[in-house]
Amino acid sequence: MSSVLVRNIEIVNPDRIFWADVLFEDETIVKISEDSIESEAKVYDGTGKLLIPAGIDPHVHLSLPTHAGPSCDDFKTGSRAAIAGGTGALIDFVTPERGQSLIEATEARLKEAKVSEVPVKLHVGITWWDDSLDAEIESLIKDYGIKTFKVYMAYLDNIGLEVCDLHKAMKSIAAHGGIMALHAELGHEIAKIQHDFIETGRTAAFNHPWSRPAYCEFDAVEKALFYVSATQCTTYFVHISTAESVQLIRKAKAEGLPVYAETCPQYLLLDDEKYNGAFKDVAVFIMSPPLRPKENIDALWDALKNGTIDTVGTDHCPFTMKQKLHGYSDFTRIPNGAGGIYHRMALMYTYGVLNGDLTLSEWVQICSSNAAKIFEFNEFGKIEEGNTKAVIWDPEAEERIGDTHPYSHADINAFSGLKIKGKAIKISEL
Ligand SMILES: [Zn+2]
Repeated sequence: MSSVLVRNIEIVNPDRIFWADVLFEDETIVKISEDSIESEAKVYDGTGKLLIPAGIDPHVHLSLPTHAGPSCDDFKTGSRAAIAGGTGALIDFVTPERGQSLIEATEARLKEAKVSEVPVKLHVGITWWDDSLDAEIESLIKDYGIKTFKVYMAYLDNIGLEVCDLHKAMKSIAAHGGIMALHAELGHEIAKIQHDFIETGRTAAFNHPWSRPAYCEFDAVEKALFYVSATQCTTYFVHISTAESVQLIRKAKAEGLPVYAETCPQYLLLDDEKYNGAFKDVAVFIMSPPLRPKENIDALWDALKNGTIDTVGTDHCPFTMKQKLHGYSDFTRIPNGAGGIYHRMALMYTYGVLNGDLTLSEWVQICSSNAAKIFEFNEFGKIEEGNTKAVIWDPEAEERIGDTHPYSHADINAFSGLKIKGKAIKISEL
């Protein structure tokens, strides 16, 4: 592609919507004008279409190692799904072994991510603690440009941190100007409930949500906020799923605590009725946190609307049914997760904008601009001259989501059956 003039397109920025002509050269926006642009370039009629900042998915797990094999999409398929769905950047994770250098684990993950066709940043997991990690955190921020460090309050037997170590990690992250991304669920409580369930023969898949009840999330959020207040460590709560957590985060923000929050399409669109059924019906929805009673859904949409929740990430972590079957006789062995990169923007457009819960600008904020600001993706989040990260959105395209799609190895999909509207068109394809 050389240059293309997009005529009369509706530009959706986080702060303003307007119609303009836009001249691209090799995907870079060189001119935006509300008056007609004169150019020799090939013309694309943008009437009826939107020009939006490419999305950022701040929470994906590509090739995540598990006992059932890695999550079934890698950086190649995941990044292709991103592009096809209108997302232009991803944030994945480094999950060091306990005792392993964070820097060594980060370098290995950076190599894996090289095949990605979109920019990838990494949240570096702090899966163990001793004071030597303070220097590693400082080096990752200064020398590697890492911004965020992931801590799990759950999964204490392998990757989670006890609260005393969480506190130390927060002090270190705050001292060096980083952000903590936090999975807030009470690890000890969940382990105890799951142990009791298995011991008493409650092994079927539908027990999963009962083993991680809502209070395990909002009690963890409350506990974490105490330490946010004490350390002033900027904290990004991942995959918030309950109304009570939303209230706590809203109050914390009102008090001026340095807090951000994310939710995911699955918590906005699906509820715990999905856990009624046989193994194969239920296994598709085994994720953590689990889907919640539907009373939570309105609170999450309100939180997106009023800014309590800043971003929608997918927690993309798909598995095949064959992989899910590892937990057929013990639900705690079902690999947790579902896919979402490809459909995220369309799901939020269809069920957010078209349902009247979000304006177009709010859609762009939660899918791109807010993550661009928090995680410092400089070319993202706004349509402006010099920007290379723009996507055309065709609002008329329609699709019913199936179990499979061309950008994933998964053969199951938590959103299967939902109708979506809207489709991304790459600038390079005009
Ligand atoms: Zn995750």
